[in-house]
Formats: sequence, structure tokens, C-alpha cells
Amino acid sequence: MELYLYNTLSRKKELFEPINPPFAGMYVCGPTVYGDAHLGHARPAITFDLLFRYLQHLGYKVRYVRNITDVGHLENDADEGEDKIAKKARLERLEPMEVVQYFTNRYHDCMKKLNVLPPSIEPHASGHIIEQQEMVQQILDNGYAYESNGSIYFDVEKYNKQHTYGILSGRVLDDLMANTRQLEGQDEKRNPFDFALWKKASPYHIMRWPSKWSDGFPGWHLECSVMSSKYLGEKFDIHGGGMDLVFPHHECEIAQTVAAHGHHSVKYWLHNNMITINGQKMGKSLGNFITLDEFFEGSHKLLEQAYSPMTIRFFILQAHYRSTVDFSNEALVAASKGLQRLMEANKALQTLKASGNNSNDIDSIEKNCYAAMNDDLNSALLIAHLMEAVRIINAVYDGKEGISELQLNKLKNIFKIFVFDILGLTDESSNNHSEIIGSLVDMVQQMRMKAKAEKDYQTSDNLRNKLGEIGIEIKDRKDGYDWKLK
Ligand code: ZN
Repeated sequence: MELYLYNTLSRKKELFEPINPPFAGMYVCGPTVYGDAHLGHARPAITFDLLFRYLQHLGYKVRYVRNITDVGHLENDADEGEDKIAKKARLERLEPMEVVQYFTNRYHDCMKKLNVLPPSIEPHASGHIIEQQEMVQQILDNGYAYESNGSIYFDVEKYNKQHTYGILSGRVLDDLMANTRQLEGQDEKRNPFDFALWKKASPYHIMRWPSKWSDGFPGWHLECSVMSSKYLGEKFDIHGGGMDLVFPHHECEIAQTVAAHGHHSVKYWLHNNMITINGQKMGKSLGNFITLDEFFEGSHKLLEQAYSPMTIRFFILQAHYRSTVDFSNEALVAASKGLQRLMEANKALQTLKASGNNSNDIDSIEKNCYAAMNDDLNSALLIAHLMEAVRIINAVYDGKEGISELQLNKLKNIFKIFVFDILGLTDESSNNHSEIIGSLVDMVQQMRMKAKAEKDYQTSDNLRNKLGEIGIEIKDRKDGYDWKLK
């Protein structure tokens, strides 16, 4: 089985050959935890969950590291300005680590709902300050950084003389410089493209650590270079993230790593494309920043209804990860219908009895499913092949076609592997207990109303008490009733 992945660095699909099989190391840039996860967070999480699941299915022992950024990410991804987490803490009058814990918990809740598997290691930037200081020192020792007023900056121009700054994003430093005005207040830097490895903290900055250069904090890009090499080694297989991270974040990561270790660390760079909303980029200022919870509750003004976590997951998987995805209510409704078709076919499949033989080549469906995944994780094509299986299942279910025991087992296997294990979809209709309980309570309540109308108060009270005994509390109101689990 040969898996090909598109490497952003070489700009072509490459055969996946891990450095040290059967082990595979994978590092993905995780969230900066100062706000609720939104649709833009769901895409990388689901894309790399798909890869994590598929590599495990192929038999690799995967160490998946996804970090939590809890320090050093300043506003506008710049080297000046307030730390995003410190700012939230100041506004909410919380300790910065309370902000981190609160939004990390909420991020985990959302990931669980989306059936995104937890990574093997989830390191925090603030837990690796010493290692980050060590890497700053290495880069200084190797001559690729300089101190300026207590801060340490990466010397991009010097690096670019011996290596290529811009190798990942395809940007050329001379062009970048020609198109940039020297900004005021950047006089600490020799060059506007130099970036902070260590920042001296201003007197009001709360998140700070002592160092030989100054009381300060690490630059945003540094944590990923440090934590990836700490947990995966100086050379590892896969580094992933959203396309918005290619420049400057990953470009700077490569420069730092090469400056510190003398060589590249990542064999395959993978990037998922972005999600637009009604054709527009997502952005706080545009008012189209929809959080995942708002999707699940239908509580944002752009949403016509609530969309379940699996609908969001299916919607994202319906596109290849390198294509753009445009959110609209119509697209989500269509995704929800597609998912329902798949899940209903699965239910039907479990009830089918073998009789006769099916004229379709079921082996070729399985082959096509693998071929789609092996072609750079083409989940869009995989789903199209699964819909072919759905068509066959429905034809057998309707009695229009026969199926043999062997074919039936093959179809069941295809669903188990591709729908549930690899795409990571779940059947939400079978686990929606609160909806089922709600319908049952409603049924009992109608019986109570009927008894009351017949002045049979004993039966009515009896039913209410019986519900109470199994933990369901009913409160009668003038115009209806409320219920809750006790
Ligand atoms: Zn990163």
C-alpha cells in the first residue's frame, strides 16, 4: 500500500516513507487558547485526525504531538503588542493560566464532539521555557541571532546568505524587503523581517520569565521548533497546520531549526486550505467568526439552524483538504443530508440477509477507497466511492438486487474501516438519548392529560411518581409542562 502526500516544501506529491518505520512522528500546530474554537480550528483538527487515523490503520505506530500555545503569541502575529492570553486575562480579571485552562477545556470538549482523537502528547509553550532559552542560545552561538536592548532577534539577512529564507512559502527576501517600508518603533531590529526569539517584557507585561538576557518571554515561532524536536527528535516525519501558518510561522520555524541544528527537521510539510464564509475570509472584524458551539446550537445570526458536530465533520471531509471550502447554510444542509444517507445505508446494511449474488464488483469499491486515501488523503473521492456502496445497499434493501454472504461481509467491512475508523464519523441518531427520553416523556405526559381529563387523578399522579422514581422530574404548568433529569 503506497501512500502519497503533497509536500508543501517540494511542491509535489511524495511517497510516504517514514524515517524510522513502523514509527511515524507528526507535529501539528494547535490553538492559541484565548477564545472559543471556531470553524477555522475544526479544519486542521479534522484533517490531521484523518491522517492520524489512516496512518494507524496502515499499521504505523504514530506519535502525534499537537501543541497548546499559551504564551508569546502577540496581537496581529507581530513582535509588538499585547500577548493575546494576557490581554484576555486583563479584560476578564483572571490569571492568564485560568484563561488557558478554561479555553483548553472548551477546545477539548469541541474536539470530542467532532470525534477528533486526542493527540499522543499535548505540550504547552509555557511548560518549555528552559528548552526555548537553550535553543535561543544555540542560535546565538551559531551566529544567526543578535541581542538588542534585552531582546534576541533572528538575523534573517545573515541566515539568507547561507540558506534560503522563504524556501517553504516561495517568498524571496529581497522582494519582501523592497515592498516593505521600515516601520517606526522597529529600531531594535536590524531588518524589519527579523523576528523575536526572546522578548524583553515591558514593566506591565505579566507573563515573564527570568533569563540571562532579560526578564521576558519567548517569541511565538520558537515553541514549535523546540517542542517538535524535544518529542519527535531532530528529524521527524510530518509537520502540519493550516495554510495561514506557512508564512511567517512555519517559514520562521524552518529558519530557527536550521540555524540551531544545521539541518531541516521535517520530511513532509502538510497544510490544509482555509474555510471561507459565504465567499469571505473569516475575521473578527467581519462579524463572521462562528464558533463551533454556535454551530452546534444554531445561535449565530448567520446560521439558519443548528448543525450537529458530525454534520460539521462530514462537511469538512467532503472536500479534499487542499481545496478551499466555502461555508453556507445550503452547503451544510446538503452535508447533513449526505451524512444521513450514509448512516441510513449503514443501518440497512446491518439488517440485510444474503440471497443471490450482486452483479457489482464490491472488491473494486474497496480498492477505490484505498486508492483515494493513498492519493494525498482524498476524502472527497473516498466519500464518492462510499456513495456507490450506498447505492448498492439501497438496491438490495429494496429487493431490486441480490447479494451473497461474502459480498455482504465485504460491504460491512468497508463501512467499518472507511466510514467509522478512518473518516471518524459516528451515527448521531443512535446516541441522541435526550431526544429519545424527550419523546418518551411526551408520551407519558399525554397519558396523564387523558387521565386528568377523565378525572382519574390517581393514574395521573401515579405516572408522575413513576417518572420521578426513574429520575425524571415533571413540573406541570398552565400551558404545558417542563421536565428535567434529577
Ligand atoms: Zn506552530
